[in-house]
Order: sequence, then structure tokens, then C-alpha cells
Amino acid sequence: MSDPQQKSFKKYIPNPEGLNLELHLKAVETGLLHIQRCLSCDKARQPPRYYCSACFSSEYEFVPVSGEGFMYSFAINHFTVDRAWLRNAEPEDVNLGDPVLVSVEPRGEEFAFIWVDKI
Ligand SMILES: [Zn+2]
Repeated sequence: MSDPQQKSFKKYIPNPEGLNLELHLKAVETGLLHIQRCLSCDKARQPPRYYCSACFSSEYEFVPVSGEGFMYSFAINHFTVDRAWLRNAEPEDVNLGDPVLVSVEPRGEEFAFIWVDKI
């Protein structure tokens, strides 16, 4: 009889595609969070999109950012197998406006977890 405590569970690793793949490749390559920026008007945008919402340009680049910021919004998923990206805090302890630090944890060649830590 096998011991249930001995089971090892593999964490699900998504396979990002398109612009999300570009974002994750930058994170894996550098270990830093990147944000997409329009090369025409300089507007930053997240999540990444093919066209700028300000000037409709399709020219963009991904630029590294510090990861420091504030909790702008969040949702609690009650039916997930993964705690998503909030780390070192329980969802009920998070409030809009709380200072946070976003960091990346490369997993594989094409994906990185993007973690949010309440600071
Ligand atoms: Zn633009």
C-alpha cells in the first residue's frame, strides 16, 4: 500500500502563446518583470496587446520594470487548484492600495510565475 504522504504533485505549468509568450520569454531570460510599451507614443500597457489603445500603433517593446507598485484590483477564485500569484499573504489580508512587489520565478524555458508579495 502506498503512503499518500509520499505522493508528489506536479505543479501545472501553462504554455503561453503570442504576446504572453513574448512577455514570459523576457522574464525567463532576465529574471525581471517586463511591461509592454508603445514605440510610437511611449504608453505602457498590461496585459500586452497587439495595438496601442492610445495611438493604434502596432510597434512595441517590452521594457523591464522594478516590480514596485500598489494593489490596483484583485479577484478571489474559490475553485482553483493553484493559489495564482499572491504570495506571503491571505486574500482577506489584501486591500486596494496596499504596497506590493512583483517578481518573477522562471519555470522552464517559456514560462515564469509572476508573483505579487504584499510589502
Ligand atoms: Zn501608442
